[in-house]
Amino acid sequence: MSEDQVRVSFRTLGCKVNRVESEDIAADLLGRGVALSADDDADVVVINTCTVTAEADAKARKTVRHALAAPGRPVVVVTGCLAAVDPMALEALGERVVVEPDKERVAGRVAEFLGIDPNAPHSHVVRAGEGFRTRAMLKVEDGCDVFCSYCIVPHARGGPRGVPLAAAVSEARALVEHGVKEIVLTGINLGRYRDGSDDLASLVSAVGETGVPRLRLSSIEPPDLTEQLLETLAATPALCRHLHVPLQSGSDSVLSAMRRNYTVDEYRALVSAAKDALPGLSVTTDVMVGFPGETEEDAEQTRALCEEIGFAKLHVFRYSVRPGTPAAEMAQIDPRAKASRAARLRQTGDSLRAQFLQGHAGASAEVLLERERPPDVFEGTTRDYVKVRLQRLHPALAEDDAELGVGDVVEVMLGEPYGDGLEGWLPAARNAE
Ligand code: SF4
Repeated sequence: MSEDQVRVSFRTLGCKVNRVESEDIAADLLGRGVALSADDDADVVVINTCTVTAEADAKARKTVRHALAAPGRPVVVVTGCLAAVDPMALEALGERVVVEPDKERVAGRVAEFLGIDPNAPHSHVVRAGEGFRTRAMLKVEDGCDVFCSYCIVPHARGGPRGVPLAAAVSEARALVEHGVKEIVLTGINLGRYRDGSDDLASLVSAVGETGVPRLRLSSIEPPDLTEQLLETLAATPALCRHLHVPLQSGSDSVLSAMRRNYTVDEYRALVSAAKDALPGLSVTTDVMVGFPGETEEDAEQTRALCEEIGFAKLHVFRYSVRPGTPAAEMAQIDPRAKASRAARLRQTGDSLRAQFLQGHAGASAEVLLERERPPDVFEGTTRDYVKVRLQRLHPALAEDDAELGVGDVVEVMLGEPYGDGLEGWLPAARNAE
């Protein structure tokens, strides 16, 4: 089979890290001269799976079965966390399934299948995912050793491993040279980043020095918000003042059953130290309801803590059994209780979000323009992670011809709520320029 007859497409499930890794594999294949396709009729499909819950497993199997439904498709390559945890279950789905848990090897396996020498030298292609011109995710860490009792990730991905600091910085530099305006440092457990004696703080300051206008952390576990990291974040002007700090529960007994490595008081103190160190910081979080043993009182403590902390956004998850984890062996709670706790917490999340957005109305903020929706509407994001819909011109200033484009960083006046974000206007000063 020759590569110019064959197109490869991707299906990526799960987290941001998977997305970055799929982009890396795609970039590698492009560098080997392979054609990529977004269509359903590609000849080879690479499926990057997730196994964070039993639902994620089911979705992965369904995606593989769907890909196999194209009778002429010679091969479906499956990688990702489910491929690492349960390769046999995936192989059992069909003879055309090739399971390759090692993502570093996926492009080589596809190339081999296409009859391209997998060891032939190939050019480096900087990844070109959606939003590439403005924001790029830079994966610097893989793996986790926390072993929360509901999570299979440390089993699937192994312990933490950091990309060498020099390599991460040189990729960041390349992205900046390609016009990227915002780099998001990502990892499975980013705070566990290490390269010898260098840690996440060293990496943040080194990437901050590449001249990237904006730098963001994808997520940080509470115990990793150390004083030293906060000092570095505060001293890095590019750092966007938004942190995603998973809380999971506001009850000490649930946190301990989850094997999270902090207490409610510690979480409270860490977030308050972060807010002191980084004025204007917005904090978002993940909260899990319905963990085995969680009582109504525990759920109420979680809700009350979320209100007290005043998160900018809550991501509410219902606990679901993940076979192979300690929590799967614990006594499960009634699904109806889970559903009503999740609904209550989502309501709290909605009102916190509304308060957060209202707090911005009438303020001015720096917005990175990420997409253009013709005519004359842009969508972008503030440094504290508010989505903004920006009209090119204020109606009252319609004569103005300010030139805007995707990738621009502009000062914007924020107004009324719009979807999950806010309307924005260019202030008169700029319009009058
Ligand atoms: Fe899983 Fe806990 Fe590690 Fe997050 S910190 S990846 S939930 S084990």
